[in-house]
Parts: sequence; C-alpha cells; structure tokens
Amino acid sequence: MTVTFRSSVLPPHERGEELGRTFASEIGRCVDAYRQLFGLEDLEPLGGLALAAIAAVSPALADEVAGIAAGSGRSAGEIAAINARTEILAHQQRRVRGECSTVVHLGDGRPVAVQAWDWYEALADSWFVWEIPHPDGSLTTTLTEFGIVGKIGVNSSGLGVLFNILHHIDDGDSIGAPVHVLSRAVLDGCTDLNQALVLLAGAPVSASSSLTLVAARDGESAAVSVELNPAKIGYALPDAGGLLTHTNHFLSSPASAGDTELITGPDTVVRLDLLRRRLAGTSDPSVGAVRSAMDSHLLGGGGLCCHPDETLPPSARFRTLATVVLDVAGGTLTAFPGGPCSVTKEIDMPLVLKRIDNMDILTKDVGRLVDFYHGLLGLPFHLPYAAEEEWAAIDLGNLTLYIFKSEVGEHAPRRTAVNPDNAPGYDSMAFEVDDLDEAEAALDGRVEWVDQRIEWKHPNGTWYRYRPFFDPDGNMLYITEPHPAPTA
Ligand SMILES: [Zn+2]
Repeated sequence: MTVTFRSSVLPPHERGEELGRTFASEIGRCVDAYRQLFGLEDLEPLGGLALAAIAAVSPALADEVAGIAAGSGRSAGEIAAINARTEILAHQQRRVRGECSTVVHLGDGRPVAVQAWDWYEALADSWFVWEIPHPDGSLTTTLTEFGIVGKIGVNSSGLGVLFNILHHIDDGDSIGAPVHVLSRAVLDGCTDLNQALVLLAGAPVSASSSLTLVAARDGESAAVSVELNPAKIGYALPDAGGLLTHTNHFLSSPASAGDTELITGPDTVVRLDLLRRRLAGTSDPSVGAVRSAMDSHLLGGGGLCCHPDETLPPSARFRTLATVVLDVAGGTLTAFPGGPCSVTKEIDMPLVLKRIDNMDILTKDVGRLVDFYHGLLGLPFHLPYAAEEEWAAIDLGNLTLYIFKSEVGEHAPRRTAVNPDNAPGYDSMAFEVDDLDEAEAALDGRVEWVDQRIEWKHPNGTWYRYRPFFDPDGNMLYITEPHPAPTA
C-alpha cells in the first residue's frame, strides 16, 4: 500500500511541523538509516552545512525543514542532513551504486513518464507520496522519503520531474545545493519548463543527478534530462520519435568524460540499451508497454527491475522500491510499491472510472418523488416512467437519477448545510443554475428551504453561491451558481 499524505496547512514551517508530527517515527527511522549509511554518529556538522545549502536554494524549504524537525522531535541539522543525503554520500566518497531507470515518451501531447526507483532495501518502507497545496490553488505531488522535502514529482502546471542519481569525478568537494531540494523547488516554484531549466542551470550542486523535466500543456509536450554535476551542466534530449530514456550515466559531454559510474555500476549502460531496444519501433507506447520494457532481470542485482543480490551483505542490498507513473498533463503521480515485474496488474489493467452514470434514491412513495423531480423541478424522464412497477429514471443532465421503492425502515434524519453537525455518509446533490436569484424565486414557496443562501470562495478564485432545500422525503438538494477560477 502506498502511503499518501495531503498537507492541510499552507505556511512552510507549519506544513513541515504537521508532517513531522504525523510521521515522527518514520522520519526517525529514516534519519537513523542514513546515519548508518553515512557512518556518522554526529550529523550536526554536515547537517549545518546542509541547512545553509537548503536556505540558499529556498528559504521557504529551509523553513519547512525546520518545521519537520520541530514536529518530529529531531534537530534541524538531522533533517537537513537527510535532505542532503546525496551530497553527503558524495562528500564522504561513499561508493553508492547508481540505479533507477527512466522512460519518457512524448506522444501526442500527453506524455508517458515512468520511472523505476531503486535504492537500499533497508529503506523499502521509508517513502510516501506527499500532496502539497499552495495558496494560489496549485498543487505539488511528490514521491519522497520521510523527512526529505521532494524527489520524483509533478505539479498542477503541467511540469514533472524524474530522478536518476549520477556520479562524477568532481562530486563531493563541499555540500552544495541538494538535488532533492532542487526538485521540490522546481515543482513548487516553476509554472513552465523554461523557469525550471533556468533554476537548475544556476544551481551550485556538489553531487550529480539527472533531473528529467517533462512538460505538457495545451497539447504540446517536451522533455529534457538536466545532467547536474559540479563541473559543467549537460542536457539529454528525446530522439526524433519523442523517446527519452535515462539510467545512471551521463549522456552529455563534457560531463561523460568524468563519469565514475562506468566503473562502479557499469550495468547502467546495458540498462539504457535494453530500454531503447525494447521500446524501439513502438510508435506510441502506453504506460503498460513501458512497464513491460522495464520488466527485465537479465542483469540480476543491476537489472531494470532490481531484486536484492542475496550474495551481498543486507546493508548493501538494492531493490526497486517503487514504480512511479506521472501523468504530467493531468498533474498526477501514481506510485506502486515494488518493481515493474510486480505491478503488472495495476499498470497493464488500470481501473479507469470515467464519470458518474447514475445514482439511486429509495423512497416509500415513488409517485411523490416523481411529482417533485419531474413535475416541480421540471427534469425529464431518462426512461419511460414505470408507475405500476414503482420506479423512475430521471435525467439530471449529466447523470440519471433512479427512484426505487423501499419497503422497510425509516428515512435517515434530515441533514443541514452545516457539515460538522451532520452524521457521516452521503450528504446532498447540487444542481447548477445560471442565476441563483431567478432559481430561488422560481422555487420559493414551493420547496422547503434548509437554510439561507451561502457563499464559498476557494483561494484560487473559484467561488459558488448556493441554497439548500429538501425534497419531500427530506433528501438534501442544492441549487448552485458556480464560478470557476479565471484561467490565465
Ligand atoms: Zn522484478
């Protein structure tokens, strides 16, 4: 099961505190796992450097890190240290193997973007999906480790980031801009691909990573792997067919000349070749086709679908922790625990709920409700009224309301428009009207109103005004005048 958490507060420090409180023990385990991986008793000296590096990328994210620390009962240095885990491992010249395989296919403006995220088996339960609403109504969704502000993700402006660790001979001189923090800064702060490119191009990194940016908006799409490294930034682009694949070696020069992964993890070059050959000639691969291309164990512990090499000590074992699918155009991220071979059913045969087709109301008196919905509210029949069989299908415009006969029990208590005052369960339905004043005048004296007129505004500019009323059985209905946020 993928753990998903949606922040309920907007200011960075409070958001961090809420996350820290909610996942205090998970964050603690993550800090301890990295302390072990770093081989350090005291995280404070490097944590202090990391905190300064985070603040240089984004004061807001430094604030959030401090909030996570406060909420989880850890020090800000410890939380900053795990946010800079790639930089600290590089600084210590730890021979961390690269893994992670990424595929983007641009297609017809709705890109397919899939990544296998491979990391230490000991951290298999250390991740979750975090949904982060912003004051302007936009949303960042990121798969990340507990206590780390971001990694793989997507935002509601049609921008996605996939993540592959790289290794360069110049890595590790200092603690530079943490790549995980950069990814989150892109997702929070960039509404187009160019802003993201500019932000990353200027980042003073001390450890290498490929951040594959995927953009999709208004039927257009683009992807580029930004190969961050301390020497000289490079870029890798899709082929003429729109296919971009990335594993853990540099595809751009001059960075490729300083690539150390070719010595420590040469499986990366074969993984890339496998992906390219397996997807070659597929003109418009689905997410399922990409999953299938990633379902390869030819390289054993270094495979595209990575299972632990049992000959290694437990602390050195790698595995694919998650298979991640981004719908960049739709602004959503779906994470499946496990590697491409274990998520066949979920990805190849996804559940796609298209729309609400119909809903049912049970009543002791079908005729009375038909008089109300068809007669008083003027809604047409979807199917001929079967009065003698005591059922009716009413056309509500975009769904069918079926009214059926109930023979037992009592109707649930009448509800009010004040949500916290009502018992859990189905509440109401709302009919859109062009003009609330006119609709209210048309119904006044003919229906039982529940309450006065109500107005509700979302920070993104969307607002409604509406008024609740009962049908003769006491089911709560609304007439509502919706005002969507103006599009930029
Ligand atoms: Zn597998």
